[in-house]
Amino acid sequence: MKNLSNKTALVTGGSRGIGAAIAKRLAKEGANVAITYSASKEKAHEVLKAIEACGVKGIAIQADSADASALKAAVDQTAKEFNGLNILVNNAGVASYKPMEEFSLEEYDHAMNVNVKGVFVGSQAALKYLGEGGRIINIGTCMVDKVAFPGATVYSMSKTALVGLTKALAREVGKKGITVNLVHPGPINTDMNPADGPSADFQRTLLAVDDFGETEDIAAMVAFLAGEQAKNITGTGITIDGGTNI
Ligand code: NDP
Repeated sequence: MKNLSNKTALVTGGSRGIGAAIAKRLAKEGANVAITYSASKEKAHEVLKAIEACGVKGIAIQADSADASALKAAVDQTAKEFNGLNILVNNAGVASYKPMEEFSLEEYDHAMNVNVKGVFVGSQAALKYLGEGGRIINIGTCMVDKVAFPGATVYSMSKTALVGLTKALAREVGKKGITVNLVHPGPINTDMNPADGPSADFQRTLLAVDDFGETEDIAAMVAFLAGEQAKNITGTGITIDGGTNI
């Protein structure tokens, strides 16, 4: 019996990067896994093949996390097709960096809609289905604790909202056997933050370890939090940043 056998999971933003690694890891641990994506249909279907290669069921659903009705429908579809839902990973996120005065309200709204409203809406929809052993795992950023370079006001602000949501919701649903946690990645090599990108060498100067982390490093922690052994961990943030914030 695997760690997550007979469990069902939904990972938002599972077509690329950290979300794709989480989806594959949860499938490897025995869960049926649905992923959402907004634009990368082909990549989402590659992830789906990798999920199914683990001998579990998968679904890839096009659902923009900024669109509340699409996201709610994705949660409902997952629960319907998998006959329930045990694990929600709120991973979909967007990041853009520039001076505060250059952000338009449209850009602000987009960041808040995906990074904050999407987590609220997804979690609210999932709570209809989650019961004893249920898990909500949010993906934040180490910049919630320390912001080492300028230009991150909107991103840092949006992700910091998840600290409040995680703590308050954990308090609300704990007695039902549901945990809510927040994983804070530091530099992880993805399209969002490539290890050969323009700010990569600066980020390396902040690391205590040798280099950027890998998407699988975050996936391993999410898989642990999703399992039975993590039943006493709730309402907290776990930083995986290679020592960036030391
Ligand atoms: P990527 O940009 O590499 O991948 C983002 C994923 O989210 C893609 O699958 C993308 O799908 C999906 N996505 C983006 N916007 C939406 C949307 N509106 N609706 C649905 N899905 C969407 O990012 P990472 O993998 O690097 O980041 C994943 C999470 O980790 C984010 O929340 C990010 O903030 C956080 N993080 C990442 C760090 C890093 O160094 N990489 C550091 C700290 C935090 P599609 O291609 O279809 O748009």
